[in-house]
Amino acid sequence: MKKIYLKLRKIFTPTVIVICGVLMLLSLFAGNLVFYAFGSDDSGYAITPVLIILLLAIIGIVLCLWLRRRIVRNDPVMGRFAAERISLKPGGTVKGQRKFGFMTIRWMIMLISFFALIYGVKWLGQGFGNIELPIFACPINQDQLIDSSCYTLAHLNSLVGMSWSEIGIFLGSLLLSIVVLGRFICGFLCPMGLIQDLTHETRQGLKIEGLSFNEKLYSRLKPIKWTLLLLFLGLSFVGGNFCNICPAITVSPALAGFKVSLFLSGFAMIVVIIGSFFKRRFFCNICPLGYLIGLGHRISLFRIKKDCQACTECGACYEACPMGIKTIYTEREKRDVTTADCIMCGECIDKCPENKALAMSFGGLRFYKASRKTFMSGHKKNEKRLKRLIRKREKNESN
Ligand code: SF4
Ligand code: SF4
Repeated sequence: MKKIYLKLRKIFTPTVIVICGVLMLLSLFAGNLVFYAFGSDDSGYAITPVLIILLLAIIGIVLCLWLRRRIVRNDPVMGRFAAERISLKPGGTVKGQRKFGFMTIRWMIMLISFFALIYGVKWLGQGFGNIELPIFACPINQDQLIDSSCYTLAHLNSLVGMSWSEIGIFLGSLLLSIVVLGRFICGFLCPMGLIQDLTHETRQGLKIEGLSFNEKLYSRLKPIKWTLLLLFLGLSFVGGNFCNICPAITVSPALAGFKVSLFLSGFAMIVVIIGSFFKRRFFCNICPLGYLIGLGHRISLFRIKKDCQACTECGACYEACPMGIKTIYTEREKRDVTTADCIMCGECIDKCPENKALAMSFGGLRFYKASRKTFMSGHKKNEKRLKRLIRKREKNESN
């Protein structure tokens, strides 16, 4: 009992309670703060709010960059915020050198999933109506085409009016998702994941420095994560609606052609785009649905395995991890290093220079392993490029 009390005290810190309160109030009054009212009426296009969000996010990013430059110029101590975390770029992650491999397959799956979850599910719902699938995407909830676990989780109070068979299907499909897919959903299937990765790639393409999060910053995200999880599961019981503050609803329904009032979710999406521009997978670090699925990681078939003998403690995996999971690097005994935060993106394996030190497995079958050859092949190309650049610079200097 005392253990449970201590655990609850750890979760319900004053910060969590205050954030919960503020977001609850905002959610309850969200109806009066309609962000894009024209989304729900007959005028205008469903896509218009998304374009406005995009425009406001770009303005926000430009403002942040300007502010950062000013802060760093006036206070050199803040210079660390301008510097990007040192990153190794093996295995063809340098622009123009991407080789066909696990990461390319991941991008392909993300793209296919994006279209399947938006248009495929819409088509399925309109054709077969009222079926429940173990999937997590918004358009299916408009007009109740297909029921989804995410929507039911955000409206747990609706379980009261459901029949036993409906409850069984909801729980069964949720359990199936956790066991078969786990947070593979976040790394490969979620439309929000693709949007964030595209935002990150855009920043890299523009050669703008991102923000490096240290352990302290990651730990500061914890109360926010728990707050959102509590609101996600509990808001419906006090008359609120988590969908009103969820950024995901701003994208998929609009792209599928559904008009929805976005309330506070429009603002949330702007924050997510700006955040993921500077910090890779920013929203995944606080996503309540992702974390809820992650909490069931012990029964998930997807796992990250580590060979502690092969590991040379270089720390490249930690540097590459968008979720800041330090145990992947510090673990010295356990073979299984899967955690609730791991989104199965495979970045740590891609950047690990030691043969088989890290691997991703499904049901015990290791299908993606760290490889020195892949790591070195990327570096050899980088090395040649670097030598060419040095020669060019020396030539220019001597002239
Ligand atoms: S531990 Fe590896 S697979 Fe998991 S989130 Fe971090 S980089 Fe991705
Ligand atoms: S698992 Fe690989 S990348 Fe991580 S510390 Fe060990 S050798 Fe380095």
